[in-house]
Amino acid sequence: MKKQYDAIVIGSGVGGSCAAALLAHSGKRVLLAEKRAYLGGRFSTVDRDGFLCATGGLAIQTGGCVEQVCTALGIPSGVHPSQKVATWLDGKIYDHQQGGTSRIIREVADTQNEAERVLGALKRARGWCPPSNDISFKQWLSQYTSNPRIHGIFQATISSLLTVNDHELPAGEYFKVMEHNAPITFGFIEGGSLRLWQKMADIVTQAGGDVITGATAKAVAVENYHATGVHFRHEQCDRFAQAPIIVSNMGPAATASLIPSIYLEQSYQARLGKVTPTAIMWLHFSSAELLMEYSALAVGCSRRVNMIDVPSFEAEGVAPEGQHLYTVGGAPLNSLDPDDIKVEFDALLEDLRDIFPDFDQRTNVLTKTCYRGEWPGFRTVSGSRPGHRTPVLNLFNVGDGAGPPGFEGSMGAAKSALLVAEDVAQMS
Ligand SMILES: Cc1cc2nc3c(=O)[nH]c(=O)nc-3n(C[C@H](O)[C@H](O)[C@H](O)COP(=O)(O)OP(=O)(O)OC[C@H]3O[C@@H](n4cnc5c(N)ncnc54)[C@H](O)[C@@H]3O)c2cc1C
Repeated sequence: MKKQYDAIVIGSGVGGSCAAALLAHSGKRVLLAEKRAYLGGRFSTVDRDGFLCATGGLAIQTGGCVEQVCTALGIPSGVHPSQKVATWLDGKIYDHQQGGTSRIIREVADTQNEAERVLGALKRARGWCPPSNDISFKQWLSQYTSNPRIHGIFQATISSLLTVNDHELPAGEYFKVMEHNAPITFGFIEGGSLRLWQKMADIVTQAGGDVITGATAKAVAVENYHATGVHFRHEQCDRFAQAPIIVSNMGPAATASLIPSIYLEQSYQARLGKVTPTAIMWLHFSSAELLMEYSALAVGCSRRVNMIDVPSFEAEGVAPEGQHLYTVGGAPLNSLDPDDIKVEFDALLEDLRDIFPDFDQRTNVLTKTCYRGEWPGFRTVSGSRPGHRTPVLNLFNVGDGAGPPGFEGSMGAAKSALLVAEDVAQMS
């Protein structure tokens, strides 16, 4: 670690890696400092006996903000678009090649009238007057239908994409995501997500910067609303590095805890007070035989499971030869404050036994994790993000707690990095 850089980025998650690479690409000498031993934060991969298991997210929106960052950097994203996608509802599979949400709503509606009522409401909300955030998405949809299969379609999308249940999502947020991103298509990174963050780290070092793991930011020095540098703990030593630009990927609340509170004016503190991390259950399993002919299955009308991805179905190099890797997402009943995690995982496993006959005999469970608190699904529920600027002039946040409305998860993290790069370009 040198004493002086053009920019310091704390944390190497999606937002931190994208910001560090974009700043390095624009000619800056950047320090990318990560406290963990690996890069990528909640969107990386760890090797479990040859299976590249996700440390969090794994599906990248094709053509979305992460790929836009790659284009700006002139590197391939390595994302293999998922071709075979379907929805599982109440034991029946609806292949998306035969049509997406509208087609499935028509098929599962009890009457044609019901289908037209729901589709009409969606069309008005998307094209004319979206609902406010004063009610939940579930309350909004309940005005038009009580059909559990139609509710199941949206619970599957919302809980897998936005890491909260439909009754916990402010209604307007769903439509902001659709406005900016629909139709949303995803893919997985060949050889695991870590590959992409490594490519971005290489851009940092090639531009004369440093990428250091095992370095924990302890405080940001601030003078008269300007950040001057970061105090780190690295290899049991205290270090201080200076830079005129500081970018934090720690999450807005954790960033604020590193600066003297006199710099946090009250309205910003009030915004931070609304930050509510979400919880998500994540389970990896493997099988020798392929259990489904899809790379991604949205799951509705279940107890907890909301999606099953099979990264090995289309992306190369993520499972040993002749084996298949599956990633299962599940929403706890209360995603904002989950209760007994064992009970929650028991319910998720019951779903898997319903979806795959003889699940216990045919599969091998590799990992079971509930993400929450400081290592959450999302840093905060959609609709309560403090944004990428802070009250300190040259201190920025990036990550899924810092993206603009409508940009969620890895898309929001990458979007916040693009916004920071734009701000920095204006400042120079
Ligand atoms: C189980 C799960 C599944 C998901 N699935 C998807 C998906 O398929 N698609 C999608 O788009 N999104 C998904 N998400 C959301 C997505 O993973 C996150 O939105 C995204 O990874 C967040 O990135 P971030 O930029 O906020 O950084 P983070 O991942 O939060 O990384 C922050 C980094 O900062 C480091 N750090 C923290 N404090 C310090 C410090 N003091 N000093 C130095 N370093 C520090 C951390 O170690 C970490 O590496 C999922 C999330 C989870 C948990």
